[in-house]
Amino acid sequence: MGKNEFLTRKAIANRIMAKGLQKLRWYCQMCQKQCRDENGFKCHCMSESHQRQMQIFGQNPHQIIEGYSEEFETYFLEHMKRSHRFSRIAATVVYNEYINDRHHVHMNSTQWATLTEFVKYLGRTGKCKVEETPKGWFITYIDRDSETLFKERMKNKRIKADMVEEEKQEKEIMKQIEKAEQLMQR
Ligand SMILES: [Zn+2]
Repeated sequence: MGKNEFLTRKAIANRIMAKGLQKLRWYCQMCQKQCRDENGFKCHCMSESHQRQMQIFGQNPHQIIEGYSEEFETYFLEHMKRSHRFSRIAATVVYNEYINDRHHVHMNSTQWATLTEFVKYLGRTGKCKVEETPKGWFITYIDRDSETLFKERMKNKRIKADMVEEEKQEKEIMKQIEKAEQLMQR
């Protein structure tokens, strides 16, 4: 590989990816421990502390996975809200930013096997607008806070409009009653 090739964006991206994957690979979510390599991971898995942790997990796996899934989703959406509130962005970009946090919840301990699965879930539950494109999945954060505010404001406006309308009708009826009374007096 020439020197220039080594410095292309693609080459750099590939190196970062490889590094990231390596980082993810030997991580034990149960103990929140990052191992350096396969051997380290194997040693860790045989350690007493890991065995104890697994026993706890074995007694209640669903609850633990649910807990991790919830945490994963919360942090992921928080990151979306903080950094990409008003933009449509590639899911992989957000994911890579998210996993940059050393203490992030790892996806392999959640109910979602892949990022795609997670993205689809976000779309299904109305948490993000999601679209599949030839360049992969894109997501847009749905700002529930301002959406709720907007709906409330519209509702209040409608109520006000209704009240104005009712008042008008009442006045109209009063007028007609007055007219009728005048006619009766004649
Ligand atoms: Zn462990």
